[in-house]
Amino acid sequence: MKVYIIGAGPGDPDLITVKGLRLLQEADVVLWTDSLVNEELVNRARAGAEVIKTAGMTLEEMVEIMADRVQQGKMVARVHTGDPAVYGAILEQMVLLKQRGVEYEIVPGVSSVFASAAALGAELTVPDLTQTLILTRAEGRTPVPEREQLKDLASHHCTIALFLSATLVKKVVDDFLEAGWSPETPVAVVYRASWPDQKIVRSTLEHLAEDMRANGIRSQAMILAGWALDPHITDTDQFRSKLYDKEFTHRFRRGIPS
Ligand code: SAH
Repeated sequence: MKVYIIGAGPGDPDLITVKGLRLLQEADVVLWTDSLVNEELVNRARAGAEVIKTAGMTLEEMVEIMADRVQQGKMVARVHTGDPAVYGAILEQMVLLKQRGVEYEIVPGVSSVFASAAALGAELTVPDLTQTLILTRAEGRTPVPEREQLKDLASHHCTIALFLSATLVKKVVDDFLEAGWSPETPVAVVYRASWPDQKIVRSTLEHLAEDMRANGIRSQAMILAGWALDPHITDTDQFRSKLYDKEFTHRFRRGIPS
């Protein structure tokens, strides 16, 4: 028996993977973060499963329960919001589980960054515009290493996704401007992507702070910045990938020279 660390997806209970749902339904014990994971999903655990909320617990308490139940021969599902690999704080759990000789396995989930892109109808890597997506956060109470300061990352002028940064927009905007981004650069904010009360705010660097304030967005928001988020990008035929280009040869199709 082991602990399955499962990505629950961004909110919509249908956005968990088939494998994640199957394991959740088989589990004897389900631990979930009640502030972030949709309760509807947890209600799909099997009748009689022990369901435990973890929002008020310490790391040690949580690991103690997981280790204890596995040692009793029970199957444990630890459900995380989005994908567990980004800002999931799973490493510290894995370290303690390993120390106690408890096996674990990670099942990926749909991260809020991709649910947000879907809500916006955006491609984050647009041919000839940007081929890079940076996932990061603004520095607040949690420090960000010196070599990863936002103004340095922004110097790449690619698409940048900011987690955990809704209360730090003033600093975010300053860093982008300092890196040479124009004040008109599109920024899209998705509040509670895929939840029934999802909200989309399309803005620009220069108006971001006031637009977020006007919409009362202070948490549970994904900020996506860069020209890939241009709301008019679907009105142009300018950006095309090579993949479907009729002159481009690749492994599955021979190109036709014009
Ligand atoms: N592992 C999660 C991220 C956890 S950190 C994932 O892959 O999505 C929490 C941050 O994720 C929030 O501050 C917010 O920036 C973002 N987030 C989580 N759920 C979200 C949602 N439904 N809509 C928008 N942003 C969300």
